[in-house]
Amino acid sequence: MRPDLLNALFAEVETLDGVGPKLKKPLDKLGLTRIRDVAYHLPERFVTRRSVANLDEASVGEQVVVALTPTEHKGSSGRGPYRVLAQDEIGNICSLTYFGRASYTAKKLLPVGEKRWIAGRIDQYGQMLQIVHPDHVVEASDDTLVRLCEPVYSLSEGLTQPKISGLVEQALARLPDLPEWIEPRQFEAAKWPSWRDSLKLAHKGEHEAARERLAYDELLANSLALLLVRADNRERKGQALIGDGRLREKLELPYSLTGAQARSVAEIEGDMVQQTPMLRLLQGDVGAGKTVVALKAMLIAAEAGKQAALLAPTEILARQHFETLRVMLRPTGVEIALLTGRDKGRARESILMGLLDGSIDMVVGTHAIFQDSVNYKDLALVVIDEQHRFGVAQRLMLSNKGRSTPHTLAMTATPIPRTLTLAQYGEMDVSRLDEMPPGRQPIDTRVVAQERFADVADGVARHIAGGQQAYWVCPMVRENENEDIAAAEARYAGLKERFGDQVVLVHGQLKPDLKDAAMERFASGQAKLLVATTVIEVGVDVPAATLMVIEQAERFGLAQLHQLRGRVGRGSEKSVCLLLRGHTLSETGRERLALMRETQDGFLLAEEDLRLRGGGELLGTRQSGDTPFRVATLEQITRLLPKAHDDAKILMERDGGLSGKRGEAARILLYLFDRDWGVQMLRGG
Ligand code: ADP
Ligand code: MG
Repeated sequence: MRPDLLNALFAEVETLDGVGPKLKKPLDKLGLTRIRDVAYHLPERFVTRRSVANLDEASVGEQVVVALTPTEHKGSSGRGPYRVLAQDEIGNICSLTYFGRASYTAKKLLPVGEKRWIAGRIDQYGQMLQIVHPDHVVEASDDTLVRLCEPVYSLSEGLTQPKISGLVEQALARLPDLPEWIEPRQFEAAKWPSWRDSLKLAHKGEHEAARERLAYDELLANSLALLLVRADNRERKGQALIGDGRLREKLELPYSLTGAQARSVAEIEGDMVQQTPMLRLLQGDVGAGKTVVALKAMLIAAEAGKQAALLAPTEILARQHFETLRVMLRPTGVEIALLTGRDKGRARESILMGLLDGSIDMVVGTHAIFQDSVNYKDLALVVIDEQHRFGVAQRLMLSNKGRSTPHTLAMTATPIPRTLTLAQYGEMDVSRLDEMPPGRQPIDTRVVAQERFADVADGVARHIAGGQQAYWVCPMVRENENEDIAAAEARYAGLKERFGDQVVLVHGQLKPDLKDAAMERFASGQAKLLVATTVIEVGVDVPAATLMVIEQAERFGLAQLHQLRGRVGRGSEKSVCLLLRGHTLSETGRERLALMRETQDGFLLAEEDLRLRGGGELLGTRQSGDTPFRVATLEQITRLLPKAHDDAKILMERDGGLSGKRGEAARILLYLFDRDWGVQMLRGG
């Protein structure tokens, strides 16, 4: 149960003044549902404004505060913006420009003939200066003038900076005083402010120590939760599985295992003979050959007379796995079944019977295989494909299915750096497939200047004319989602003029049925060119697609480029990847693209990605999606995680875990960061 001290923080955002159904939606979109979320909605950056006497003193692009007197309101004609013309002290005219519903505010805030203090960014509009959606409009007496440094928050449609600032202020006023959870010596040495002060300071200005402490808290919570899980796992009883090799012997593989595969199988076998349940991660790039490793592990279970299950993230992948495994298992006589949410009636009943009486040795499926209605005779091994989509918590809930705790093997195709492995999986054991099966054709990767666009399009035309397929990838960054979608649509329109019906478009804002239809046309070979934003990163497998063009490649992270490029080079034909680069390329950008050209080693690219991005990161920019954190940046993770991890260990091993005085504080920390599954672990055990 959540400690009472946290009640104020976990109250819904609706309890803040001014939050009704209308604001609820934009707040939800940012993931801000509780007071805690608002307090942790840290500024992306700060603006420092300069106060100027008149517009001559300001330059275009600058953030200023200036006194202006409205002279005329020009209502919007049709779809145009609403403009208020205003004059400074020496007669310069500036347009205060509002789009959409904001024009109602403009009418109220800017009466003609009355001087106002305006804060905003000066832009050029034709011959005139303009300020689009001023951040503040106030009467002269207000204190805006002295608040020259202010936070800039990420917004969603329907929110403004002043609104979110107001909510943050209210949330900060409700912060309780929480006991200190950081190890006392570590806390002293770091000279960090308390938790509450840190949150307040982090909203006020670029306060390094405060930001650092908040990131550390999150890392500590995560490490601690993972250690609790690990400790719990050690106390559980599993089954020692000893395989005699009789089934594995019967496999008729057309190849021999690579060194990395053989080593991984040996590591897995070493875990499975122990009574402590295995918790192992198998990491290997797409195509590294994880399936056969999983198969061997499942056969060990079968040799020991037990059952094994393979969990896939989607129905399609489950089917694919089932087909592959069924064929490979044929010479062994092992019974394998497929179970997905789609299976109903008789067929389903007979599979359920088979799992219960043990006549089915292995099952492949989506999470349907762990529903309450599914019971196993003796489930001893669970293999999870694409671990990152499930999360540690769910995995552990699943593993209660067997009579005793089954061994768990998680597989992921995302080669992540060692530090991030620690962050996501804690001290889970790791096997790495860092060696590709022989005979892979390397993907010919070239960096091409954007100016040579016409040549690239000609190349695509020749490629398609030769009967092959291609991807055309446009960048997609969260901050300018709409612009990026527009760019992708424009590109699609242009290519359609040339290639007609052979082109299809897929992006994240497309309705699911349209998206599926487009993918289907491409996968079946009807369409030859797929224009896409980064949605194709996961789950597409079209071996006949052997060319990939990536526009503005410098805007992607290395790991992301690598994942994208992995979509080609899947058939026997030679594949090409063209990285188009803009003409302004930073040093880092140049280095990135050069690396892409030189190597196809996913682990190396992941490490370099972290190094290159980590260093250049701006205050507060998070790379969402590739870490389980909302506060800590990549740079902070790299630097602070080892310390936080040690700190968590000290708590577990020396300071009595969650039972001592520090433990009470740590319990609060776990709830604060939604790592309470760590707490539940203890209770369950
Ligand atoms: P992953 O799941 O890691 O992406 P797969 O298990 O699907 O990769 O294997 C990719 C391909 O490589 C499959 O066609 C598989 O038969 C083949 N393969 C796996 N191991 C070897 C090996 N040691 N030698 C040659 N080919 C292999
Ligand atoms: Mg696979």
